[in-house]
Amino acid sequence: MKREERLRAIAAPLLAWYDENKRDLPWRGDRPDPYRVWVSEIMLQQTRVAAVMPYYRAWMEELPTVEALAAADEERLMKLWQGLGYYSRARNLQRAARMIMEKFGGRFPETYRDLLSLPGVGDYTAGAVASIAFGQAVPAVDGNVLRVAARVADIREDIMDPRVRASFRAMMEAAMPADRPGTFNQALMDLGAMVCLPNGAPECGRCPLAELCEANRLGIQSQLPVRRKKAARRVEELTVYLLVRRGRIALRRREDAGLLAGLWEFPHVSGILEDEEAGQPMADWGLTARTWRKRLAAKHIFTHVEWHMAGYLLEAEGEGPDFTWVDRAGLEALAVPSAFGKFLEEALRALGEEGGR
Ligand code: SF4
Repeated sequence: MKREERLRAIAAPLLAWYDENKRDLPWRGDRPDPYRVWVSEIMLQQTRVAAVMPYYRAWMEELPTVEALAAADEERLMKLWQGLGYYSRARNLQRAARMIMEKFGGRFPETYRDLLSLPGVGDYTAGAVASIAFGQAVPAVDGNVLRVAARVADIREDIMDPRVRASFRAMMEAAMPADRPGTFNQALMDLGAMVCLPNGAPECGRCPLAELCEANRLGIQSQLPVRRKKAARRVEELTVYLLVRRGRIALRRREDAGLLAGLWEFPHVSGILEDEEAGQPMADWGLTARTWRKRLAAKHIFTHVEWHMAGYLLEAEGEGPDFTWVDRAGLEALAVPSAFGKFLEEALRALGEEGGR
C-alpha cells in the first residue's frame, strides 16, 4: 500500500476510537467556541495539557471573550500567563484580539487565510481553529500528528525540514474526511498524546491503527519520526541580586524587545561573580550592602539558551538607579518570568520575614 493510501485508510478506525476515548477538555464540546479553541491551542504550544488546565480556567474566568482580552491591562495579562513561559504568546493573543475587534468588527475570522493573518497564528493553529470551530477541511499538523503519520506510513524524511512538513500537510489534507475534519484533527492529537507516545514508547497493543501501521509491522516505532539533531544551546551566566531595603525589593523592567520582553526581573549582571567580586555591581548602582544574607544558585533552560545563575540575597542601603522597589503584595502582582522562579520564591520568603519583624 502506498503511503498516501495508508494515511487515507486511518480515518474510519481513528474516528471510531476517538468517539469512545476522547479526552474531556474544557475547550471541547458539541459546538466549540473559536475563542476558546484558539486560546487553548496557543497555551498548548510548548506546554502539556495538565499544566495548561489551571491557566486556561483562570484566563477564561477573567477574559471570557475576545472583547475582554482586547481591553485587558497588559500587566494583568502577563500575570495570568506567569509560569507558562514564552510570554510573546500572551502578547500576540492580545494583539490578535485587538485586530479582531478593529479589522473584523469583533467577529472571529472563520477562514484559514484570515486566521493566518492574526499575530501569533501559524499553520497549525489556523488549521485547528478553522477545522474544530468552523468545520473546514484543513489539517492541523503538530508534533503529535507528524509522529503518528510518520509511523503509520513509514516516512523516514527529516520532519524538521519545511518541505517535508509541507508534504505531510498535503497528505493529511487528502486523508481527512470532509464531514468531520475537526474531529479527525482532534482524534490525531489525542492518539499522539495518549497512545502513539514519543520517545519510542508507543502503546501499539491498544492502538486503533495497529493493523495499518508500517512502523508497527516492521518493529521500527522507536526510529520514527526522523528528526535532525538540534544545535547545542548557548550558555549564559548571570549573577542575580535580591536587594532588600526597608521591606521592599528591587525590580527592573526588561527591554520591550527580545527574550522575556517587558517583564519584571531582579537586577543582574553578566557572568558568575565570586563573593569578593559581588560588591562591585552594588557600587556601580550606588548601593551599599548592609548584610549579605544568602548565596543562591539556579538554572533555567530556554529553547536556544541556558541561563546558569548565581545570586545574592542581601540588605541594601542607598537609592540605586532606576529600580522599582516593591513590597510583597507588589511583587506578587507583577509578572516575574519563571526563569527567576527560584529567586522569586526566596524574595517572597525574605519579604514575608521582613513583614513579620
Ligand atoms: S501502531 Fe504503534 S506506532 Fe503505529 S500509530 Fe499506533 S501506537 Fe503509533
